[in-house]
Amino acid sequence: MKTHLIAFLLLLTFPIVAQDFDKVQIRTIKISDNIYMLQGQGGNIGVNVGDDGVMIIDDQFAPLAGKIKAAISEISDKEVNYVVNTHHHGDHMGGNEVFGADGSIIIAQDNVRTKLSGGDTPKVAWPVITFSDDMTYYFNDEEIYIHHGPSAHTDGDAVVYFKTSNIIHMGDTFVTYGYPYIDIGGGGSVIGMIAHIGQVLDLIDENTTVIPGHGDLCKKSDMIIFRNILIDIVDRVKTEMESGKNLDEIQSSGIISRYDQRMNGGFIKSPDFIGFVYEDLAK
Ligand SMILES: [Zn+2]
Repeated sequence: MKTHLIAFLLLLTFPIVAQDFDKVQIRTIKISDNIYMLQGQGGNIGVNVGDDGVMIIDDQFAPLAGKIKAAISEISDKEVNYVVNTHHHGDHMGGNEVFGADGSIIIAQDNVRTKLSGGDTPKVAWPVITFSDDMTYYFNDEEIYIHHGPSAHTDGDAVVYFKTSNIIHMGDTFVTYGYPYIDIGGGGSVIGMIAHIGQVLDLIDENTTVIPGHGDLCKKSDMIIFRNILIDIVDRVKTEMESGKNLDEIQSSGIISRYDQRMNGGFIKSPDFIGFVYEDLAK
C-alpha cells in the first residue's frame, strides 16, 4: 500500500516540479580533466569529454535539455554521441527525447528499453543499444565499464565506472538524500541493493570519486556506511517478522529510530523504508 502511495505522490510531484524548470540552473562540477558532473533538477549527470566526443550519463528532464546542452558546450565543442541511462525513471532519462532526436545513441540495460517501449515514452527516447549484464566502452582514452548487477532501485539499474579516471556514477543505487526509494513495482529490491553496492565496493577503491544518483560527490567510505545501515535494517525487520509482527506493528516499533536523524531527510521516511524491506522479505 505504502509503495503505491509513493508512486502516486511521485506522479503528482513531477507536473508540479515541471512548472519550475525555467528557474533551474545547471551547475557544472569538474571532477577531472575529462569528467564532469552536472546538477540541475533530477538525477546527477555525468559528462565525459575528449577528442572522440561527448558521453553523458543520464539527462534529467526534457525541458532542461537546452540548458544541459549549453552547460556541455562550455566544456566541449563536440556533439553528445552517447547517452547512458542508469535506469528508466523520468528524472534520469526525460531528456532522451531531445538527445535521441539530435542523433545521440542511447544505451541502457535491457529492462529499461522494455519499460520505456511499453509506456508513453516516444520511440526516439528509447535505448537503441541495450545489454543484459555489463558492457565496456572505449571512448576518449577512457575504459568505461557499465554494470547492471542485482535489481536494486529498479530491475534495470546500471552503474557506470570510468576505470581510467577512477570515477563511478551510481545512478539511484546510491543516493545521499537519506533512505533510498526502492521501486518495488519496477522490480527494485533492498536486498538486491545491498548486493549491488557490495559488487561495486569490490570494483572501486578508497580513491574512487563516487557520483551518487542524487546529492554531492562521495567516496567509497560513504557507500560502506550507507550499505551497513541497509544491512542492519534488513536484519531488524527480519527479526520482527520472524517473531510474528505485522507491518503496522513493525512500522510503529521504533526499531530503526536510531537512523531517523541521518536518513529521514528525503521523501522516504522510516515507515516507508520499513515497508520496502517488509515487502522484499515477504516475497
Ligand atoms: Zn530513480
